[in-house]
Amino acid sequence: MNEPGNSFTAEAAVVGGGPAGLVCAIALAAAGVDTLLIAPPAAPDHRTTALLASSVTALETLGAWQTCVANAAPLKKLRILDDTQRLLRAPEVFFAAAEIGLDAFGYNIENRHLIAALEDRASGLRLSRIAAPALAVASDSAGVTVTYAGGVARVALVIGADGARSLCRAAAGIGTRRRAYPQTALTLNLAHDRAHADTSTEFHTESGPFTLVPLPGRRSSLVCVLDELDAPELLAKSDEALSGEIERRAHSLLGKMRVEPGRGVFPLAVETAGAFARERIALVGEAAHVVPPIGAQGLNLGLRDGATIAEIVADARRDNLDIGAPEVLVRYDTLRRADAVSRTIAVDLLNRSLLTGFIPAHALRGLSLYLADRIGPLRRALMREGVAPMASQPRLMRGEMV
Ligand SMILES: Cc1cc2nc3c(=O)[nH]c(=O)nc-3n(C[C@H](O)[C@H](O)[C@H](O)COP(=O)(O)OP(=O)(O)OC[C@H]3O[C@@H](n4cnc5c(N)ncnc54)[C@H](O)[C@@H]3O)c2cc1C
Repeated sequence: MNEPGNSFTAEAAVVGGGPAGLVCAIALAAAGVDTLLIAPPAAPDHRTTALLASSVTALETLGAWQTCVANAAPLKKLRILDDTQRLLRAPEVFFAAAEIGLDAFGYNIENRHLIAALEDRASGLRLSRIAAPALAVASDSAGVTVTYAGGVARVALVIGADGARSLCRAAAGIGTRRRAYPQTALTLNLAHDRAHADTSTEFHTESGPFTLVPLPGRRSSLVCVLDELDAPELLAKSDEALSGEIERRAHSLLGKMRVEPGRGVFPLAVETAGAFARERIALVGEAAHVVPPIGAQGLNLGLRDGATIAEIVADARRDNLDIGAPEVLVRYDTLRRADAVSRTIAVDLLNRSLLTGFIPAHALRGLSLYLADRIGPLRRALMREGVAPMASQPRLMRGEMV
C-alpha cells in the first residue's frame, strides 16, 4: 500500500473501496490494467449481502470466493408469504434452486467478511493504493486528474465507486433522479433456536417486506422495512424487547430469537444517475444507482457494473484504444443502463404494490404470485432471470476472466 504523498500516473483509477469498487479494481488489475485504488478503509458495516449465483461465479473467477465461503450461507429455497390483513391476499409462493438445477440461488454473507476477502485478494495483486479519500476530480480531453490528501494522480479513466453521494458523479456533471419512500429499513443479525433450512423467508406486510435471510449456523440476517414513523419506537427497544418483537413478526417461524449488536437504519430511496459514464468518468455501484433493499438487487447490480467496465476497458486496451474515449463510455452506459433501470422499476412496483391501498394493485400482485406459483415454465424463467439475467452477463459472471 502506498502512503499519501506520492504522485501517480496509472491507466485507470478506482475511487471508493466498497464492494463494487474493490471488485472492479481487482478485475482491472487481474486483466493487467495499471490501476490505482483511491480508497480510505471501509467503515464498519453490519449488513449482509445476498449474492446471487452469477455474482458468486464472478468472485470465484477473481479468486476472492475461497476466502468468503466459510462465512457464507447457501440460499437454497425462497418463500414469500403475504402477511397483510388485506381483502385480496397473495398465495404463499415457494421457490427451490433445485428446480432449475442449481445447488443454491446464491449465498448470504456479512459485508465485513466480504470486504475482508476482497481486501485480501486486492493485496495479492499489482494494485497501487492510496488509503485516503479523493478530494477533487477534474477531467479534460486527455485524461483525469484526481487530487487526494497529499498527492495528485493522472489517469486516462476514473471509475467512480464512491457510493450514493459520489464526488466522481458530480465531477462528471451527472445529475440523478431520486425519490424517497416513506419507509425505513432496520437491519440486524440474530441467532434463533430453530434451523432455517437454507430458506430465505420474505413476509410481505403493509409497510414493506420483512425478510429473514440465512447465515451460517442457527443465525439469520433481517431486513425489516417499516413505516418511517414507526422506526424510532422499534429502535428504542432493548435487545430483549426487540428480540421478542421480531419473533412475533416472524410468527415464531425460527423459534426464540436473540438480536446481535449492530443495528442499522437505512431510509429507503431510489436514485438513478442521468448517465452512467461521461467525461472519462464511469460510475459503478451506488454512485450509479441506489435500489431499495428489496429482492437483493443493489450490490448484485453493482458487481455487474464493475465486471462490465473492467471487461470493456480490457477489450479497448487489447485494441490499442484510449480507455477513456467517448465510445468506450457510451458502450458502458448502454450495456448497464437497461439492466439497472429494469431492476429498479421491478423493485419499485413491488414496493408500491405493498404500500398502496389501491385494491387492483393488490389483485395484480396476488395474481402475479399465483401465476409464478402455478405455471412451471414461468416459475423457472423467473428463477433463472433472478440468479443470472439473460441480457447482461459480463464474462466474469459466466466464469471467464475479463
Ligand atoms: C439494508 C440494506 C440491505 C441490502 N441488502 C442487499 C443484498 O442482500 N444484496 C444486494 O445485492 N444488495 C444489497 N443492498 C445494497 C448494497 O448494500 C449496496 O448496493 C452496496 O453496499 C453498494 O456498494 P458500493 O461499493 O457501490 O457503495 P458503498 O458500499 O457505499 O461504498 C462506497 C465507498 O466509497 C468510499 N468513498 C466515498 N467518497 C469517497 C471519496 N471521495 N474518495 C474515496 N472513497 C470514497 C466510501 O468510504 C465507501 O467505502 C442492501 C442495501 C441496504 C441498505
